[in-house]
Amino acid sequence: KPSTENTTTHVFKSKLPDIPISNHLSLHTYCFQNVSDFPDNPCLIVGSTGKTYSFAETHLICRKTAAGLSNLGIKQGDVIMILLQNCAEFVFAFMGASIMGAVTTTANPFYTSTEVFKQFNASRAKLIITMSQYVDKLRESTPDENHPRIGEDFTVITIDEPPENCLHFTVLSEANENDVPEVSIKPDDPVALPFSSGTTGLPKGVVLTHKSLITSVAQQVDGENPNLYLKQQDVVLCVLPLFHIYSLNSVLLCSLRAGAGVLLMQKFEIGSLLELIQRHKVSVAAVVPPLVVALAKNPMVANFDLSSIRMVLSGAAPLGKELEEALRSRVPQAILGQGYGMTEAGPVLSMCLGFAKEPYPTKSGSCGTVVRNAELKVIDPETGCSLGYNQPGEICIRGHQIMKGYLNDAESTATTIDVEGWLHTGDIGYVDDDDEVFIVDRVPPAELEALLINHSSIADAAVVPQKDEVAGEVPVAFVVRSNGFELTEEAIKEYIAKQVVFYKRLHKVYFVHAIPKSPSGKILRKDLRAKLAVAASPI
Ligand code: AMP
Repeated sequence: KPSTENTTTHVFKSKLPDIPISNHLSLHTYCFQNVSDFPDNPCLIVGSTGKTYSFAETHLICRKTAAGLSNLGIKQGDVIMILLQNCAEFVFAFMGASIMGAVTTTANPFYTSTEVFKQFNASRAKLIITMSQYVDKLRESTPDENHPRIGEDFTVITIDEPPENCLHFTVLSEANENDVPEVSIKPDDPVALPFSSGTTGLPKGVVLTHKSLITSVAQQVDGENPNLYLKQQDVVLCVLPLFHIYSLNSVLLCSLRAGAGVLLMQKFEIGSLLELIQRHKVSVAAVVPPLVVALAKNPMVANFDLSSIRMVLSGAAPLGKELEEALRSRVPQAILGQGYGMTEAGPVLSMCLGFAKEPYPTKSGSCGTVVRNAELKVIDPETGCSLGYNQPGEICIRGHQIMKGYLNDAESTATTIDVEGWLHTGDIGYVDDDDEVFIVDRVPPAELEALLINHSSIADAAVVPQKDEVAGEVPVAFVVRSNGFELTEEAIKEYIAKQVVFYKRLHKVYFVHAIPKSPSGKILRKDLRAKLAVAASPI
């Protein structure tokens, strides 16, 4: 084991000074702390209807929702699940749960029934807030006595006309705010429970506390840095799904704190996106690489006035230089840049400070610099020793914003957060001479490998990412068939597609005789990636 000196010889900090952070508060108190300064400003703008909720209205409905949850028997520490696309009710439910001390687990409404129930059972949720069209998934189960039943074992609330045994969202949003229970919330109490696969294994609950989320929001919007941070006059595009922590934190919570308006879009469709940006004069767009492709390349963009955009922030996956430059020509007035996040890290590790504008110019392809009030280091994955500038290794982060741990999984927590409090991301990257973070690699999806190996006709398998212009990266599998079995690529793709959400589906399957492994049994992913790079038919 390397000495402490070796593991912390090179530690990178923000270019900005640390600031005092009010992370002793509860998340809702912190986010709504400044509401009395701008009660009538638009807080939530529903893209599909144009309905706008002011900050005062939003705050009130969140408190009513807290009261409603309590009336339904939800107690401090209980978990509720939100299974929704972006909508105002998502915000009311999440903040309402925080107000009464409950915890929200957010799930993708496109998940299969099996995926939803895995998360539902692991999080021990008591109530699900969803739309009627997804309720079938909650019923769709084998006739199994142990399967939880709507209305008996858990409550289902829909934001539209409720199907049988379900309640309408108004039981929450129209409750009496005087019924909000008195709770004493501690900084270390959980408030959000997103699920993430991390670097190893199956999806696990990521426990984010009031303190972690306040710290993360403060790192992004508190203190002085006028170039970048959200302002009261901003209208922030919320098209990325709120069930993912990137949008929940960096779009919603940051906007609430800063007093910026949030334009809620249920789903991405280029025509309505452009129309809404123009109509509501969106000034800040939080995007991911596939959205950048659309903005950079779709010919419709030329027909709309996007001059209101002052900043485009891309995150969640690598954004190539070419794309960044193509986007730059479409919104020349805007500051562009990337943020680098990981659910377990709260999620933001680094972000650009003033993308390509003084006083903090940022290079193309860079993920910015580490957030303030945090430490970042790059370690040699073999020795654990910290590395200096320009040396690639595993990125680690330390600070109050990182998760408390994985839910009920001390072992995975201990392999991800070490005894010194460093969270190991599994991402390979480096910090250049200007303190900018660059990601060069990513640990592959162990969840897909586990599913493949479960297949009775598959002897061994490995999954590696392949570069894709639209999605950033797509999963590709190498499969060893069990002796005597005739398994086709299509059959394997279908087998996986039935079990996972669409973006985890395999794009290609290569059959091989053996998966290359190191003497210690680790898959030699570099070899597989090299094969992918060489040819379309690599074997
Ligand atoms: P998630 O937990 O779903 O947010 O996924 C986190 C992972 O996304 C990180 O560990 C990175 O591998 C990847 N990621 C996030 N942001 C970036 C970025 N700007 N560039 C490259 N990879 C990124």
